[in-house]
Amino acid sequence: MSVLVVGSIALDTVKTPVEEHADQLGGSASYASLGASFFSPVQLVGVVGDDFPESEFDFWKQHRIDASGVQRAKGKTFRWSGEYAWDLNTRETKSVALNVFENFSPTLPENFRETEFVLLANIAPSLQSHVLDQMKRPRFVVADTMDLWIETTRKDLDALLPRVDLLILNDSEARQMTGETSLIRAGRKIRKAGPKYVAVKKGEHGALLFGEDEFFSCGAYPLEDIHDPTGAGDTFAGGVAGYLAGKTRGEVNFQQLRRALIYGSVLASFNVEAFSMDRMRSLTTDEIDQRYDMFRMMSHFEVLE
Ligand code: AMP
Repeated sequence: MSVLVVGSIALDTVKTPVEEHADQLGGSASYASLGASFFSPVQLVGVVGDDFPESEFDFWKQHRIDASGVQRAKGKTFRWSGEYAWDLNTRETKSVALNVFENFSPTLPENFRETEFVLLANIAPSLQSHVLDQMKRPRFVVADTMDLWIETTRKDLDALLPRVDLLILNDSEARQMTGETSLIRAGRKIRKAGPKYVAVKKGEHGALLFGEDEFFSCGAYPLEDIHDPTGAGDTFAGGVAGYLAGKTRGEVNFQQLRRALIYGSVLASFNVEAFSMDRMRSLTTDEIDQRYDMFRMMSHFEVLE
């Protein structure tokens, strides 16, 4: 089954203490749709400017990403630039140029409206709701958000939450949203505000998953070499949504969500091994499965007799 992905498509300039790369493919929807494409066909919705390389459309096609929902508008593509500190964890946004993204209003092609799995990657919550308004009968809706929307458009975000099955956000965003220092309390409180499930990402420390009476905690895949953490969260969300769309049948249950979370973490771990989406461009499903198995072995333990 396909998954519909909507979000930003950008040209990013990223600097780490050792490298800098300019105008690379970025944006929440670009990372998320590539992550999802390893498990299911993707329908991508977004906007690019007339400077956006045609070669990326060919790349999407090769990865069974249907980009017929990507509008090409007059003007420049959304640009974002960020710089990482030595720990490759702390990041400062250096510049944002919305360009064609400023007037973006996602319009779904007719054949995208029946899609049952939806990933609302990080964009303004009013636009995320606008996408859901156009869908016929979404079966499972995953949404991502960021500190900016919690701070500036809280009402829109609160209105979206009851329409979401799985909300994904990071630890600092969960604390910001609830005013709770405990992530357990924060996760539970957010779930009560609408979403059936909540996933709280803790960067290199893994993730937590909250259901009505269920709870799951997993680590992150330990990596020795990180080159560019940009888009890890979006890739994670893409992996989760793609896995659910492509690999589950019937109603999504907690067991499947647990597995989806691990696949999301595996994909995110590959993504940060190189700049932009470079590692994922050559990634194979065998490599994903091998790392998944390794992850399982590393996390497995038994109670001592
Ligand atoms: P992450 O590392 O998961 O925070 O995602 C980074 C990606 O988000 C970059 O590729 C940016 O192009 C994109 N991005 C940055 N700011 C925004 C924004 N306000 N709305 C949507 N996407 C954004």
